[in-house]
Amino acid sequence: MTSQQHPNHAKADAYGARFKAEGISHLINGESVPSSSGNTFENITPIDNTPLCRVAQGDASDIDAAAQAAKAAFPAWRKTSAVERKRLIHAVADLIEEHAEEIALLETYDTGQTIKFMSKAAERAAGNFRFFADRAESAQDGLALPTDGHLNYTIRQPIGPVGIITPWNTPFMLSTWKIAPALAAGCTIVHKPAEWSPITAMRLAELIHKAGMPPGVVNVVNGIGETAGKALTEHPDIKAIGFVGDSKTGRAIMRQGADTLKRVHFELGGKNPVVVFADADLDRALDAALFMIYSLNGERCTSSSRLLVERSIYHDFTARLTDRVKRIRVGDPFDPDTEIGPLIHPEHLTKVTRYVVVGQQEGATLAAGGGRPEGLEQGNFFEATLFTDATRTMRIAREEVFGPFLTVLPFDSDEEALDIANDVAYGLAAYVWTRDITRAHTFSHDLEAGMVWVNSQNVRYLPTPFGGMKSSGIGRDGGDYSFDFYMETKNIDIALGDHRIPKMGK
Ligand code: NAD
Repeated sequence: MTSQQHPNHAKADAYGARFKAEGISHLINGESVPSSSGNTFENITPIDNTPLCRVAQGDASDIDAAAQAAKAAFPAWRKTSAVERKRLIHAVADLIEEHAEEIALLETYDTGQTIKFMSKAAERAAGNFRFFADRAESAQDGLALPTDGHLNYTIRQPIGPVGIITPWNTPFMLSTWKIAPALAAGCTIVHKPAEWSPITAMRLAELIHKAGMPPGVVNVVNGIGETAGKALTEHPDIKAIGFVGDSKTGRAIMRQGADTLKRVHFELGGKNPVVVFADADLDRALDAALFMIYSLNGERCTSSSRLLVERSIYHDFTARLTDRVKRIRVGDPFDPDTEIGPLIHPEHLTKVTRYVVVGQQEGATLAAGGGRPEGLEQGNFFEATLFTDATRTMRIAREEVFGPFLTVLPFDSDEEALDIANDVAYGLAAYVWTRDITRAHTFSHDLEAGMVWVNSQNVRYLPTPFGGMKSSGIGRDGGDYSFDFYMETKNIDIALGDHRIPKMGK
């Protein structure tokens, strides 16, 4: 950007200087190591697409080294007392909080997410660690299932070394969301972060080690999805893959993991509806609809990317919406007043921009945005974009754009709203705005979505299940749901007396 950069830019430069100078390696068995091939790739900042650092480009041999380290560390880590695991996981949270400013600025630098929203990233991430730290002691708890003459009881045990593969949209927060429960469960980890945003994942791994985590418990291999990521999903010593990313990649991972019968947990894409009925608190519905699509640059799996508005209020509601969208501030993500920063990568900008052409060709109305904002010639900047008068068959109403791009459709009845809401391949989140309590319940029950928020934006409570239906995912995260994924449930049957044993060969 220009010479009138916000002072945060210089601070981010200072935090990023060591990565610029030294590059980013892998972290295997507690050691920073280059790729066995010596290959690296370039990591750029979306603010102006200039290089930030070189990154080790891992392949199958680096993944194998990390998997061996995770396998070797597993027996001791699973036997480490839950109290000690809890202490260590809390110690990581302490360090995350201590480094909150650095994490926020590096995340902004690497992803283009605005500092306005990233300033809370460390707090949320530390919260994830604390939440699961406090559950480390109960992770193994099971059920008592007594029956005549027998006591059955279940226990949960860590499944083994696991692979974690994360995307680029909020890489620090999402990494903690996967790593914290795996550690609390007693698993060891090989993490493959997204190639477009590797910095904060490495910072997290460094802090985890600084907190005293034994070598080999958390390993990081950087690299390209189709090579390093693929090798991780195929590795026989990796027992499960926790994946967050695109639905297409989820399908590939399922195929890749078939030979080793990999357990998978997928958090995938979405085309989430927000349904606004005429009886709703329309001011709040408007604020929430705007926030859920235009915050985090619209690069958010739970974004409310389809807005369904009841016909009787459609005209007024979309007029107010259009006015607000036009005022959303796009610009320097380091400026705390900026609401939308640059999109992650030039390729992603091209993808999002293509949907503007698609929407226009399909006949929807481009009510706001649609291109590069004036005065922001470098970097991957894109205006807050709004299409109105769309119909359900249009691609802009069906496909995930993953940018600050909202598609609005009118509806005439509850039945039609439900029909439109469910008529997509995805089923991650849905939002409903109504004051009718019966409708709120019945509509929520009939929505094909893993999570429904009524008269609410996405307010996350960590014990609740997080995940999607249909092409949006398999499995749930949060609370005990995470432990069900990272652990095996074992049943133990104890005979309480002399039950009848059939005699053979007498
Ligand atoms: P992506 O699927 O392209 O990449 C995600 C990760 O998978 C990266 O680390 C990548 O290197 C790796 N990968 C790619 N191909 C692979 C392969 N064949 N084998 C193993 N790993 C492979 O996704 P993205 O573009 O980085 O992220 C955006 C997507 O993530 C969107 O669809 C978004 O909705 C989704 N997402 C979902 C959630 C959720 O909780 N449901 C949260 C955030 C993002």
